[in-house]
Amino acid sequence: MTITLETLIEKGKKYEDELIKFLSSFIAKKSVNPPGDVSEAANYIKDFLEKWGHKVEWIEPKDGVVSILSKVGDGKYLMLNGHMDVVPEGDHSKWKYPPYSGKIVDGYVYGRGASDMKGGLSALLYAYVVFTNLVEDLDRGLSIAAVGDEEVGGELGSLYIADKMGLRPKYVLLGEPSTLDYYNIGEKGIIWYRVKVWGEPAHASVSPYAGKNAILKAAEVIREIYRLAEIDFEVPKELEEIALKSGLKAKELMGIDGLERIFFRLSCNVGLIKGGVKTNVVAPECTIDFDMRIPHALRKDDVLKLVRDALSKFEGVEIEEISGHDPNYTSPNTKLADAIRYAANKIGSIDPVPSLVMGATDGRHFRLFGSDAVVYGPGEWKTIHGYNERISIEDVKLAYRIYLGILYRMLIES
Ligand SMILES: [Zn+2]
Repeated sequence: MTITLETLIEKGKKYEDELIKFLSSFIAKKSVNPPGDVSEAANYIKDFLEKWGHKVEWIEPKDGVVSILSKVGDGKYLMLNGHMDVVPEGDHSKWKYPPYSGKIVDGYVYGRGASDMKGGLSALLYAYVVFTNLVEDLDRGLSIAAVGDEEVGGELGSLYIADKMGLRPKYVLLGEPSTLDYYNIGEKGIIWYRVKVWGEPAHASVSPYAGKNAILKAAEVIREIYRLAEIDFEVPKELEEIALKSGLKAKELMGIDGLERIFFRLSCNVGLIKGGVKTNVVAPECTIDFDMRIPHALRKDDVLKLVRDALSKFEGVEIEEISGHDPNYTSPNTKLADAIRYAANKIGSIDPVPSLVMGATDGRHFRLFGSDAVVYGPGEWKTIHGYNERISIEDVKLAYRIYLGILYRMLIES
């Protein structure tokens, strides 16, 4: 007879304290990126999965940049995915407890990666081993990927698995910190580009009467490009309300006015500028680098066209793309999204709502190949990438229970 959801959750409870100890030690396994060597953390996860009787694949496309993959069946129906790498801890003296201590105080686990995302990954790992231990004979493929390289783009982590290894599951659940009240179905795109501006040199003593100053022109170019960030674009119908609510959530959580329209607009940052040759020479050239995040109304090429049009009145200006990717999303009504809502409600009495995010996750690498990728995981936003990063123990335990429920809904009850 198959197990009931209630029995699964009940039996799963006895591992909850062990899960928190696992997380605390996991934080101590260094996996800082850059440089991106995660082998110590990868070995820790490999040992854990093997202890539970799972075979693992050790994937290392570049020295130290490791991902660990474990499968039941072909692993192609549902993948659980989380990254092991963490951003650098910064100034040690600003931390209340050493950043790699994994110290447990007053209901929280502290340390770099606690929220982003060793907490979520630990919960996924425990859900995976406990579920497969209690439920035999799955007829759909399940897999878990603990990846590296995420904090620098994921090319050698998740993208490598989807692209080079060809593992493109129908559904991918990522345990990034969405907080348990939200699940993320999509993210804005990004484009980095460079604008080169040319002028004409002359002696400083005869400026501004002679020569054409490229730095001065660059200032006008910058102002022109910033105007593009004031335009509201139309996002696809099914995303309209989600985009609106996600903006309000961002505004509230970050306390920044204007963010309520962020999912309908381009963001704009001029991040680098280089120009001129000498103080007493009218600057003959200037280069400016921009970062823009793209709403779901546009693609990268549309942005470049908008920039070109905006700058068409200037002579001696050239635009060159550096890097980027299009915005992407998974329909808010997939089976995985439904399973998340179902399990969160049944187990945690939470009704999570779909949202969009401003930054990028590994979800996009799978969406690129047609997977439905959804992000749902525990974490404390305000400490992510900052000092004194931490995660609530209750949140990690609850996420683990909800993950068990999601697995149940996806793999047994349908
Ligand atoms: Zn992350």
